Amino acid sequence: MRYHLKFSFIIRGKLPATAKSLIDQWLTELQALLEKGIKKKDLPEISRVTKWSVVSRSEKEDELQFTMTSGGILPPHHALLRMRKFFSQKLGREFRLGISGIVIKSYKIDVDIPRRPMKEFSLPFVSSIKFSDTSATVTLQKNIPIDFIEKGAIDRLVKLVRNKVIEEMIRGKDEHHLVIWSSPKKEIRCTDNPTELMIKEGWIQRTGYRNQWIFGPQITALAEALKQIMIEHLYKPLSFKNMIFPKVVPWDIWKRSGHLSGIYQGGFEPYFVCTPKTADPEFWEEIADYYRITLEVEPEKIMEKLRPPIGGLSFAQCPPFWIYLQGKTIADDSFPIFVYDWSGPTYRYESGAAHGFERVDELHRIETLYIGFPEQIKTIAQKLRLRFRKILGEILDLEFQEAWVTPWWTSQEGVADTEEEQVTLQTFDRVGTIDFEVYMPYRGMRETSHWLETQNVSIIGQKYPKSFTVKSQSGKEVWSGCGGGSFERYISAFVAQKGTKVDAWPSKVLKYIDKLPEGPKFL
Ligand code: ATP
Ligand code: MG
Ligand code: ZN
Repeated sequence: MRYHLKFSFIIRGKLPATAKSLIDQWLTELQALLEKGIKKKDLPEISRVTKWSVVSRSEKEDELQFTMTSGGILPPHHALLRMRKFFSQKLGREFRLGISGIVIKSYKIDVDIPRRPMKEFSLPFVSSIKFSDTSATVTLQKNIPIDFIEKGAIDRLVKLVRNKVIEEMIRGKDEHHLVIWSSPKKEIRCTDNPTELMIKEGWIQRTGYRNQWIFGPQITALAEALKQIMIEHLYKPLSFKNMIFPKVVPWDIWKRSGHLSGIYQGGFEPYFVCTPKTADPEFWEEIADYYRITLEVEPEKIMEKLRPPIGGLSFAQCPPFWIYLQGKTIADDSFPIFVYDWSGPTYRYESGAAHGFERVDELHRIETLYIGFPEQIKTIAQKLRLRFRKILGEILDLEFQEAWVTPWWTSQEGVADTEEEQVTLQTFDRVGTIDFEVYMPYRGMRETSHWLETQNVSIIGQKYPKSFTVKSQSGKEVWSGCGGGSFERYISAFVAQKGTKVDAWPSKVLKYIDKLPEGPKFL
């Protein structure tokens, strides 16, 4: 790392000629101050002023210009904030002069990177980035405001440059995916595409809108049976309570959940929500009149009457829950908090061509959420894992596997853990995610086809309690975790292996549903 900053302090007044030698002294004093608490071997790495001069700005103002460079420790944008305080005191005391502003003239940063990225990129607030095999030389735009520095944006910018290079490397490597457990093989009774089967049976019908479906009475009954199974085999024995989570999500929640960092970068593709500029009938009258005459809408015209989005529709389901605990201190004996929500749909803008029932834009998911002390979270995650194993394998009688999928963001530097130590993970005891993937016979052979992620269970650690400032009474660390599985995925997976004919279904499922209601006959 190498930092190279040019900036000036604007002085409210004129510096006397005697100031020069004093300033040299002050800089020596300042350097000693900056060196305090720094390890000896790190001293060459910290900021130092390499050049300075006084320039007259006008009859009434002077400018103190500095060039400051550093390696990776105590970089100039940090040193600068301390230097401002230091110089304010000195100039005030000595000459009764104040600093009226700071101007960033130029800032060039050599960021260490693990390799030259395949696809070069630019960034907001940056005028150019030049890449070599080991570093990215970032030149910031001129006149970066000082509050940009004060708010920590430079450090985030530097981190982002590194992370973008690392993310590209990981993305190129395929998802980090390791099968850690497999169910016994099951007899395959169906090799048809479940979406087509269910359409044929009249269970589901596509609407005119992308990847959206209507659930007929038959499949709705099956979804209700699945709920009963979940209650009896998971939520009741593990003491989970049902809640109703909001489904409109304002920006602040996605800031805190971290989703916004990945918006439309693969993994977070939300629907946006706009409200009207006003609900005044007069403001909307022309839209109503236009419709009454033409029987058409003009979405572009409506767009002019909307405010920019306030956020979007629930995407991951659990983030809006956190408002419930935000800013609270919770009694130790209230932990663990175990809840679930299946109160309504969540939304994803799934890209590409039209998908089957297993990949919808409007999905109905069972979200399981657990908050508590680290040991409580590890224990419940393992219990949930074993119970999902039972539901998928013994009750639904499906062939499936568990995969350990550690997203890159879980490890600090963005480098995934080594694979060797993850091979079995017999107890789920660390931050990360287990996916439950069901074999879909219609897609081809077990070895080569893509299995359907139907459920997952995660330990997320401190992330949510921290960013929503949730504390425990004793001050002990609070963790959370969650898991999701949609009715669309469970039913697609079930029908893919067992078909739509009730007679052929496993007896353990028939206990919850022995006959499907009929839908209308369409002529
Ligand atoms: P995939 O890689 O298959 O898109 P995902 O990693 O995006 O899945 P998660 O974000 O982990 O899925 O969501 C949790 C659960 O929500 C999934 O296990 C699945 O049951 C369900 N789910 C996610 N996306 C959809 C979708 N588009 N349609 C139906 N169910 C979905
Ligand atoms: Mg997805
Ligand atoms: Zn969640």
